[in-house]
Amino acid sequence: MLQLEIDLLMKDRQWLKQRLIELDGYGYGDYRSIRGHYGFTDASSAFNLSLNYVQRDPFAAPSLVCLQVSQKVAGFPVRWITEYAAQTAIADYLTRQVAQVAQSLQKERGSGKSGQIKIAAPSQAVIRRTAIWINSNGIEARLTVGLPALGRRIAGKAAATLLCDSIPQIVSRCLRYSALDAAEMERYIQTFQDAEALRHQLAQRGLVAFIPEGACLPRRSGVDERPLASGAVFIPPSEKVKLQTPHSGEIKGLGIKAGVTLIVGGGYHGKSTLLKAIEQGIYNHVPGDGRDRTVSHPDTIKLRAEDGRSVSGVDISPLINRLPGDRSSRSFSTANASGSTSQAAGLIEAIEAGAKVLLIDEDTAATNFMIRDRNMQALISKDKEPITPFIDKVRQLYDDYGISTILVMGGSGDYFSVADTVIAMENYQPRIVTEQAKAIAQADPNQRRSEGGENFIKSGSPLAARAILPDSLPPQKDGRSPKIKALKDKMILGYEEIDLRAVEQIVEVHQVKAIAQAIVYAQRHYFDAKKPLSEVLDCVMEDIAKGGLDALDEDERRWGDLAMFRRFELAAAINRLRTLKTASISYICATETAYR
Ligand code: ADP
Ligand code: MG
Repeated sequence: MLQLEIDLLMKDRQWLKQRLIELDGYGYGDYRSIRGHYGFTDASSAFNLSLNYVQRDPFAAPSLVCLQVSQKVAGFPVRWITEYAAQTAIADYLTRQVAQVAQSLQKERGSGKSGQIKIAAPSQAVIRRTAIWINSNGIEARLTVGLPALGRRIAGKAAATLLCDSIPQIVSRCLRYSALDAAEMERYIQTFQDAEALRHQLAQRGLVAFIPEGACLPRRSGVDERPLASGAVFIPPSEKVKLQTPHSGEIKGLGIKAGVTLIVGGGYHGKSTLLKAIEQGIYNHVPGDGRDRTVSHPDTIKLRAEDGRSVSGVDISPLINRLPGDRSSRSFSTANASGSTSQAAGLIEAIEAGAKVLLIDEDTAATNFMIRDRNMQALISKDKEPITPFIDKVRQLYDDYGISTILVMGGSGDYFSVADTVIAMENYQPRIVTEQAKAIAQADPNQRRSEGGENFIKSGSPLAARAILPDSLPPQKDGRSPKIKALKDKMILGYEEIDLRAVEQIVEVHQVKAIAQAIVYAQRHYFDAKKPLSEVLDCVMEDIAKGGLDALDEDERRWGDLAMFRRFELAAAINRLRTLKTASISYICATETAYR
């Protein structure tokens, strides 16, 4: 991926400086003449600078600058740059360093974005991004730069200072081992490797999540992902689980077992905070985040109600049947789902994408999807209620599919009888109360009747797989790929907008951008009336595993603002596309090509 030969015939820093000064006062469009590759050499560093894309005007999206430094100059220890985990952690660390230094170097140098220097800013999660690559050849950093202008004319001297003086400082201060804090980098890598090791042990130990003693779970605010400033400390219950880490020895904590787990407790006692930490435990976090050794099964999905979303061709019949007006629940489509149907569709979509753990919080769940108590059973007979409540399906989900559920439910004790583990949160600390809860459930003579039947799915009617039809994304007028715009909680693909507010495990706008690219890529290569969605997801994720996120960038723009995502978030975005067209691929017929 990194090509680092310094070409002796390549234009150098002096040439670029000269050229920029000559361009002073010319129309902004003439910046295009500096597109290309430059070899910068000086006493402390030698590197390549490429201007891959030059913005059209000072107010447009900024220009793309790519810096390449060979390991001969960068000098990172071999053991860091050859191992996947260390490589991921160190690239993430360097991205944060560059972000800081870029911030200090950027200066308003004219109109619009003039003088801006940016790298895709990371969240608290440590993930693979295209902003920085590191391997045994070298480092590549991708920045965006606002080429300076006065009005709409080139500010040549400012541009020369920006590109030829400021940018090289990023290399000398952030991309060379000797300029960085080695101990801090080591801690970064170790924290990452510890978290990976903990997550790997979950399955062997029959666990789906682990929260260590001393973790700090609450966040500073609803819009600030940093840990609570006062530093809350998590104290595990007396039944502690012990796991091993390569760098911090044995760690004790709360281990949540596979199966059905119920989190109960009074309002404001920390139930949702615990569930949120588990939800985010799919990511490793930066040291000092407070959740840096809190881990969950990598295939954990947060499931919630999302009324108003669109649904296309989902078989929700195990949960909702006999809808009014003879609507099909075997292939349920709507442009405006209710709370319960959106949650049912979300659950089936999660199974389809391969989820192994579901997280549900009462705060964001539809009550009628979750429970149907005894009095309601007495008043409204089963044949008048399309919904089979989740309480009657949650065990089957585990028994039939091995899908565990962790559920926050402070308002109803009905779930006591179906839970394997009950955890009570009191003053933000957990206590295992399974036995008390079971005893209470058994002593109750007025138990509700289960309405769930034998299995999650009635025998003989397996879930139909869905294929995504290629025209799910409407064609653009000019026949080109749709224009992509990514925001933290939504994406715009051409004329279509996908609302991602309910996809809570997306943590960075860079993931949204990458997922948007992935949808366009999947449409080009894999959306096919004969291919189940799960296979489409396999194919896309395999291509990324082989070629990195750049595999999605077929126009070779070398975006520096893509971040790694899971198949589940890709599926979630596809499923929320309002123009989605699906076909059921029936498994009932033996022939491959048979559709309904
Ligand atoms: P619940 O879901 O039980 O109603 P939450 O998890 O929403 O409660 O927590 C209520 C509030 O307490 C939140 O503002 C949360 O940030 C805060 N909080 C959670 N855990 C702690 C803690 N250990 N120390 C201090 N505040 C906490
Ligand atoms: Mg809550």
